[in-house]
Amino acid sequence: MIEHHQPAGHGQQHDWLGQQYDRHGHQWDDAMRRAIELAAHSPLPDPNPRVGCVILGPDGEVLGQGWHHGAGTPHAEVEALADAGALPAGCTAVVTLEPCNHTGRTGPCARALVDAGVSRVVIGQSDPNPVAAGGAGTLVDAGIEVIRGVLAEQAAALNPDWTFSMRHGRPRVVWKYAASLDGRSAAADGTSRWITSSQARVRTHRGRALCGAVMVGTGTGPGRRPQTHRSRRPGAPATAAGGGGGSAPAAGMSPARRLGADRADRRPRPGRGTR
Ligand SMILES: [Zn+2]
Repeated sequence: MIEHHQPAGHGQQHDWLGQQYDRHGHQWDDAMRRAIELAAHSPLPDPNPRVGCVILGPDGEVLGQGWHHGAGTPHAEVEALADAGALPAGCTAVVTLEPCNHTGRTGPCARALVDAGVSRVVIGQSDPNPVAAGGAGTLVDAGIEVIRGVLAEQAAALNPDWTFSMRHGRPRVVWKYAASLDGRSAAADGTSRWITSSQARVRTHRGRALCGAVMVGTGTGPGRRPQTHRSRRPGAPATAAGGGGGSAPAAGMSPARRLGADRADRRPRPGRGTR
């Protein structure tokens, strides 16, 4: 649902230029689609959500674009503002996720947008992170027109796992296993290696590349040497052995300690958030 917050003194049917305002917000769809395209450049997996931002001039021309390059780097709004340089009056920021309102590893984007002097902020997904949310309120309090809910589902679809973890306070877990039609996973004497097809294994590796961490049972780890490294690229999953056996992870795997560090990094912390 599109929500429209206008500063006092502005009519409901007209935007600040006096133009007819489309109450359904479709006039911002093209810019939001561009912001979503930009967000798709953001790394995945990453502790932070993928975000894109477009700065439009008073006549709708694109002045700046940005996306988030991963945890610890400037957020998309800051990138787009830097790309745009000094803004003329009447600019609009179109951003896929509600600008953050807290100071984590970087400063709050809501404040950066206020300081840059934008007149309007158009938001796709409202921030589900209880720690970082409230950016829209900060913008409205500063007299900035805020429109949110524009292509909200498409914007949220950029970050299904992050959105899940923010809403539920736990990671989204994908359980993958291979089984034969009679419910077995391996021959008792350990001779079987693969019971799935090459297509299934390719699909599994694609799925692993999208996961923040891969866990295997301790029986699988040392004995079977799962090739979880195949899908590794910068920022790709850490691997940890779990289960009741208690033995060490197999050679070539990232230590379990690494997973612990990553998990601690991703957990929302009161007053800090994860972005
Ligand atoms: Zn931010």
